[in-house]
Amino acid sequence: MIAKVASKKAPKQGMLENVMRQFDNAADIIELNTNIRKILEVTNNEIVVHFPVRMDNGEVEIFTGYRVQHNNSLGPYKGGLRYHPTVDIDAAKALAMWMTWKTSLAGLPYGGAKGGIQLDPNKYSDSELERITRRFTYALGDNIGPELDIPAPDVNTNPQTMAWILDTYMSTKSPAERSTNMHVVTGKPIGAGGSKGRDRATGFGVFLTIKFWAESNNVDLKDKKFIVQGFGNVGYWAAYFLVNEGAILTAVQDAYGSIVNEEGINVDELLNYTKGNKGSILGYAKARTLDNADFFSLDCDICIPAALGNQITAKNASKIKAYLIAEGANGPTDVDAEEILLKKGIDIIPDILCNSGGVIGSYFEWLQNRNGEIWSLEEVMEKLEKKMRESFTTVLETSKKRNVDMRTAAFVIAIERLEEAYVQRGIFP
Ligand code: NAD
Repeated sequence: MIAKVASKKAPKQGMLENVMRQFDNAADIIELNTNIRKILEVTNNEIVVHFPVRMDNGEVEIFTGYRVQHNNSLGPYKGGLRYHPTVDIDAAKALAMWMTWKTSLAGLPYGGAKGGIQLDPNKYSDSELERITRRFTYALGDNIGPELDIPAPDVNTNPQTMAWILDTYMSTKSPAERSTNMHVVTGKPIGAGGSKGRDRATGFGVFLTIKFWAESNNVDLKDKKFIVQGFGNVGYWAAYFLVNEGAILTAVQDAYGSIVNEEGINVDELLNYTKGNKGSILGYAKARTLDNADFFSLDCDICIPAALGNQITAKNASKIKAYLIAEGANGPTDVDAEEILLKKGIDIIPDILCNSGGVIGSYFEWLQNRNGEIWSLEEVMEKLEKKMRESFTTVLETSKKRNVDMRTAAFVIAIERLEEAYVQRGIFP
């Protein structure tokens, strides 16, 4: 039997303190209007629902679900739904805030939200997960909506989860309204109104930011060694595109353990292996097992945390050998670790830039549903690359102009856009 590290311990992630420290740092630098600061420091709505679901054995279990809506001054709330034992109100608040900064930085007409259910999905059958998802959607009711708050996949949720949410949401509407609600969620399967390219959008965006960073630093990605924590949607696709560019994947860590092979790990072979191994990388024959504690200190050029928050901390930061960290995950590096890394001269492509390809891809899906359009894969990828390049360039320019690191620059841009909206509109009444 495979032991699952994450679900056994389910440690509190403490991400809220980090996002607030990141916000305070940037707000101080731009001398953010004090009234607007008060607004952005708090979340608009925090929805907690407890709901019953019948299990396969006939017993009823009560679940707790969360949806936190941080800010919607730039447009409807947008953000993923996570199914994980570490989901709680503080984690949802932190992740919702990151979404507000992310959508603002990307120049999208969205605000920020996040949510999920505190559970370990490995403990439930597919039909139980379907009933849990449908009942959660029903419990959220009109707190979500295509022009109000649009969920998307995150850790342990996927296109199938989104299809169940869509179907449940549509089923609660009158027949005339049903098909006007396709854009209540993004990240749907193509057959259920999804967009081509949304599956790979986040990982492709992670890869693009690494490529743009390499271009601006005169680094050739060919034969560069990289390691990936998390081999899910984001980790897999980021690795796939990097390997296509000639880089070498030397180590992977997931919830079950870590594997290493300095000669290179074949991304698609590993993916196929995990599919027949309950999603786990452990036991893959063409790599050695590695102690989890030694993962981040491996010799490599690029490190991609693409799992959970607070993975790179003051405890392991000083051991990191990579010269570039590309944050596929949300909040993988805590503030203390970041100070250590920056002092060591390690560059960090911050989450709100690095993984923003996901929400940009979601925006494209939402637009297509809203307008009754269907775009080709080439069109989606081209538009995505253009938007990612714009964001990356603005962050780099701001970081040079203000002489700050990339995260601070990204926060400065995001917060200034929100400040401008509030100054222009004023505060009702
Ligand atoms: P996923 O569920 O598809 O994959 C998660 C991966 O992380 C799995 O391989 C899992 O085994 C691994 N993992 C879980 N706990 C771990 C632990 N303690 N140590 C090491 N590995 C662990 O999730 P995903 O959609 O790829 O999301 C990964 C990260 O990217 C999250 O932080 C998420 O918020 C962020 N993100 C996702 C998207 C998206 O479009 N899916 C967009 C932006 C950001």
